[in-house]
Amino acid sequence: MFRKARKTVDRFLTTNPADVGCDETRAHLHEYVDRMLRHRDAAKRYPGIAAHLVGCDPCSDDYAGLLAAAS
Ligand SMILES: [Zn+2]
Repeated sequence: MFRKARKTVDRFLTTNPADVGCDETRAHLHEYVDRMLRHRDAAKRYPGIAAHLVGCDPCSDDYAGLLAAAS
């Protein structure tokens, strides 16, 4: 319990200013996954989404699901 709270605080404190947020990430997540599968450089092409996925569990789960479904 404490460990999870601590992790959340750490994430909050280390939020990347490049993070584009949930709406933007969801809008482009399929492109991100596509780019990842084709070229493996999605994080370079979409750094704001990469930054967001590190700090957001729901979007990170969506990403993992899309990646699993597409590969
Ligand atoms: Zn999100």
